[in-house]
Parts: sequence; structure tokens; C-alpha cells
Amino acid sequence: MAGAFGGFKGCQKIRGPQLRSLMEAKDYFLFDCDGVIWHGEQAVTGAAKVVNALISRGKNVVFVTNNSTRPRESYVHKFFRLGFTGVMLEQIFSSGYCSALYLRDVVKVRGQVFVIGCDGLRRELQEAGIPCVEEEDDPAATIYDCALAPDVKAVLVGHDDKLTFLKLAKASCFLRDPECLFLATDNDPWHPLSGGRILPGSGSLIAALEVASGRKATVIGKPSRFMFECISSQFSGVDPAQCLMVGDRLETDMLFGSNCGLDTMLTLTGVSQLEDAEVYRSSELTANHSLVPDYVVDTIADFLPAFEELDEQIN
Ligand SMILES: [Mg+2]
Repeated sequence: MAGAFGGFKGCQKIRGPQLRSLMEAKDYFLFDCDGVIWHGEQAVTGAAKVVNALISRGKNVVFVTNNSTRPRESYVHKFFRLGFTGVMLEQIFSSGYCSALYLRDVVKVRGQVFVIGCDGLRRELQEAGIPCVEEEDDPAATIYDCALAPDVKAVLVGHDDKLTFLKLAKASCFLRDPECLFLATDNDPWHPLSGGRILPGSGSLIAALEVASGRKATVIGKPSRFMFECISSQFSGVDPAQCLMVGDRLETDMLFGSNCGLDTMLTLTGVSQLEDAEVYRSSELTANHSLVPDYVVDTIADFLPAFEELDEQIN
């Protein structure tokens, strides 16, 4: 049961001995990446030490990210580059990778997939043996005269920094076929950049296609449960009660944890702040309570003193 540990559920800021007990009680630590582990190319101070220490203590650490722009292999390199030395491919669950698993293993797609997304997403699909529509659009082509690939059985939408009107128009045409699946890597509305700027997220592209098609996309990434199912099938015997989901966004990370029966921890180094959680907590809509974290830390570096105390106990 979420938050059962220690009886202090509900936006509780924890430190010191409580954090140490929580760490000892859990076997699986699920981390979101952006806003938790790093900001872009900058690691959160102390995050690498925390992750390395958890791994060296035999804890299972997995990364659960809605970012579909990179293939998992490129995450392994990024982790290494930023000082996370022991992270392996098997520990990384991106919405791109899980979308490929969904297409291959769940719906067993027969035919081509039309992808709105970055090259990293296409790479994940190719590695899973899923054929994607590959043609490059002629810059002069329009939806009035362009060719439409035959045999498209799914439209998959993720973050696409080269989105064009033509891609949206083609996807809208494919979605007229009720047999053609409509999938989204994630439904994130936007992402923070430095200097107060933001990037529109996949959710904003999906909204455009949902309006045009009159259909609802199936979302693979958080807060949908599917990414946890991918983790469970890879690490057999994983018990939700033994897991802690650590993230920075209430609407994705905390709701995901709650949907999967995991204890949740909000770290304040990213998108959501304590006041946002308090709003959901005091909401009269009970569904909003699923977005409230069980625990709150300022940063995951707050785990570090807990390791030091444990080391002292051992020595
Ligand atoms: Mg995040």
C-alpha cells in the first residue's frame, strides 16, 4: 500500500533517519531522469553518488523516462559521461523503448508504423524489428499531392523538433482508418528550458491529432501503467510494495507511482513544487489525491547522509 511505511503519508518532507529507513525498506528505486538526475547535460549535484551508492549496495535501480528522443544506448553513454558509472542498458526504460515493446509484443503490429518523433524513437522501433515509414518529405510536397505510404497500421507520436504541417496532415489521413492504431510515447504538455523558456511536449502534438481525428491516443509513457509492466516482465518477481518511484512531476511521475501501487517521492529539483502538491492534496476531487507524493525531498542528494550513517554503523 502506497505510503504505508512509517505512517507519514502525504507530502511529508523527510530527512535523516526516516530517509534511511525508507531506503533500507525498499529493493527497487525507480528514477525519472530530467529534473531528478540531471537538467539537460548537467547532473544534479550529488545524484551520481546516490545512484552509484544504491547500486553498490545491491539495490535495483531503474530509470523510467518519458523522453523518447534518444535510444537507450545513448542514455548509457550519457550516464557514464555524467559520472553514473554502473548504469547498464537493462536499467533504462524510456517511453520510446516501451512503445517498441508495445508494438511488438502487445499489439503485434502487422504493417508499417508512421512515426512523428526524433531519430532516437525510430531507432528503438527498428531494433525491435518494427518497420517504420522512412521516406523523407520533399520540402515542396503538400498533402494535396504527396504519396501516402500503404499498409500503415499504427501512428506513433512522440516529441518531434522537426514537426511539419505535412507530417500532421499525413498522420490525420492514416488515422481515418479505424484499424490504424493511434499511440503516443507520452502526453507531457511541455518541458522547462533555462531562462524561463519552455518546449511544447508530445502532449501538445497529440492534442492536435486528437482534434483532427476525433480519436484518443493510447499513451505508453507515465502515468500509464505499461512502463511498470515492462519493468515487471524484465525483473521477474518485482513487488510494487518494494518499490519507490522518485520524480519531479506530479501529473506523470507521482500519478504513475500511484497507478502502479508504488510509494512515491517528489524531488523539488524539477517541474513541480510543494505548493502544487498541496493544491492536489486539499482538492475535493479524490482523483487528484493520486497526484500527491507520499514523501518529498529537496533533492535526491538528501539520501547521501543516510548512506554515511549506514557506513558508520558498519565500521
Ligand atoms: Mg522529469
